[in-house]
Amino acid sequence: MRPVVPFVSSASPDERQSWREALPKALDGIAEVKLFEDLTEDQRSEARVAIVANPDPANVAALPNLVWVQSLWAGVERLMGELPANGPKIVRLTDPQMAETMSEAVLAWTLYLHRGMPRYIAQQRQKVWQDHVLERPQERTVGVLGLGKLGAVAALRMKANGFNVLGWSRNEKSIEGIACRHGRDGLLEVLGQSDFIVLLMPLTDETRGLLGQDELSACKKGASIINFARGPIIDTAALINKLDNGPLGHAVLDVFDEEPLPPSSPLWDHDKVTVLPHISAPTIISTASRIVADNIGRYFEDGTVPPAVDRERGY
Ligand code: NDP
Repeated sequence: MRPVVPFVSSASPDERQSWREALPKALDGIAEVKLFEDLTEDQRSEARVAIVANPDPANVAALPNLVWVQSLWAGVERLMGELPANGPKIVRLTDPQMAETMSEAVLAWTLYLHRGMPRYIAQQRQKVWQDHVLERPQERTVGVLGLGKLGAVAALRMKANGFNVLGWSRNEKSIEGIACRHGRDGLLEVLGQSDFIVLLMPLTDETRGLLGQDELSACKKGASIINFARGPIIDTAALINKLDNGPLGHAVLDVFDEEPLPPSSPLWDHDKVTVLPHISAPTIISTASRIVADNIGRYFEDGTVPPAVDRERGY
């Protein structure tokens, strides 16, 4: 008999429905995927692995013998905050397709800034016909903060498009063609030299408020920020201040302290801010469900649990 794998989710009904169609197909022959709400008492107690998407923590707690949970998202800070430290191991989604999708977004929005789109959009509104000097990508530097699964691919894509690329990570790193930095001095160097600063790191105790008044003041004059990571990594009040008074030129924000961004937020109307509704790298259900199925299949075959997040480190 195939083992039962609970699907614990409080995602929107539409999203839940898409996963409810994709996951059983991907796991066909490996396991039966069953909504948490439909499990029997025995199935709850027998479950060793569950698939989770914004789960109610009480539902995860009601599966007492879980060894690990497979998240359907790449960012798991909320899950880490909600599940007890001695609870099941948390495996986040790592999908090469997501790295491709994210690097495409980094390229798209860096080019949007590099080619002066915010300025030309403003000029069109005022019926102003005025060209501006165009620099070559080779004369501009992209700083990528976070060189993990997503950041490293994005950095290489920017390099391939002709930009100078600086990278920053927690540990020392070596990536061909990318000048990698770490530590506080390394961060200030990257901020001081970059025309475009891309955030691709997790939200942890260490990264919360990482870019505040001091760090944003250290940015190059006219530099733009692209935050595709998590809102609280940047101090929003400091960001607005540095957009209003320099040195920052523009911010493309895909993530916020509160999502959806409340209508009262000053970011909506700020002429140096582009607001995106958390769309830089959505999970692609077809490739993600394949990866989830492979992970769960291997576990039932030989007991291998995929690499889990380090609760101490926070990612
Ligand atoms: P990884 O865990 O693979 O990489 C994280 C990177 O951040 C690593 O290079 C790590 O350094 C670095 N880092 C972590 N903490 C620090 C710190 N304190 N100081 C400096 N560098 C640090 O994550 P991914 O690349 O897969 O994803 C990154 C984040 O992107 C996710 O956590 C999520 O928040 C966000 N995301 C956003 C999406 C969106 O649609 N907007 C979609 C998917 C993800 P080191 O290499 O030294 O460990």
